[in-house]
Amino acid sequence: MIKRQTTINRIFKLAGIGLHTGREVTLEFLPRREPGIAFVHKGCLIPARYDKVADTRLSTQIAENGSSVATIEHLMAAFYFSGITNCLVYIDGPEVPIMDGSAWEFYHELWRAGVYEFPETGVYLKVLRPVEVRNNDAYVKVKPLNTFDITMTIEFRPPVGRQKKRVMDVENAISIINSRTFGFLEELEAIQKAGLAKGASLDNAVAIGEDSIVNPQGLRYKKELVNHKILDLIGDFYTCGYRMLGRVEAHKTGHYLNNLLLREIFSDPDNYAIY
Ligand SMILES: [Zn+2]
Repeated sequence: MIKRQTTINRIFKLAGIGLHTGREVTLEFLPRREPGIAFVHKGCLIPARYDKVADTRLSTQIAENGSSVATIEHLMAAFYFSGITNCLVYIDGPEVPIMDGSAWEFYHELWRAGVYEFPETGVYLKVLRPVEVRNNDAYVKVKPLNTFDITMTIEFRPPVGRQKKRVMDVENAISIINSRTFGFLEELEAIQKAGLAKGASLDNAVAIGEDSIVNPQGLRYKKELVNHKILDLIGDFYTCGYRMLGRVEAHKTGHYLNNLLLREIFSDPDNYAIY
């Protein structure tokens, strides 16, 4: 467990293809003294914070003063796993590159950059009371616990079906970091007709066909898909600006409900404590 605020130890750059635009995007990572992760796009500073989340339909997108950055969730999860609390990310496009569809390359580069520790604390958000949000049969809830513990259930058409996974020691759950995003072939067609997912390929997503995985190499883990939903939740939750401590139970959740839960937690100061 980290105790104090941290930033990266050196500047570095990373480039990749945006999932939706299909265009190359370059990220430049700079140390930051102020708390939190923030993006700079077109000269505008956008804090990667839950109250700046403007769209959750296909990814988590933040916006400020007409400038926006989409698909921040995997990079946010990489910051979480790297123990980095403060960082500035300059980005020259409207979405974070998809890389291999997981948080692995971000995590690897952050690890290479190293960690610089500040004296200030205030890195944990401890949930003090149960908080829950729902949307039809989907829900995400959190109750008090001294560690970060996530139980996730997903339900999709065959061959995915129902999958459940519990991660008790989230800070050290390496198999979550390189679990890739996934999509169903029939949905991909519809999304591409709408002019999105132009950069999607078998190099950056698990594609699910009628009765099997399309990628020739198959899955990285038997539970890679539910693992990825946990990765998304970790990244989305890190937009609270802190490392959460609590026992999370999520069922068919996504970016929308993940963000709604944070808004619910912050709606009442009795729900949490920062330290
Ligand atoms: Zn994802």
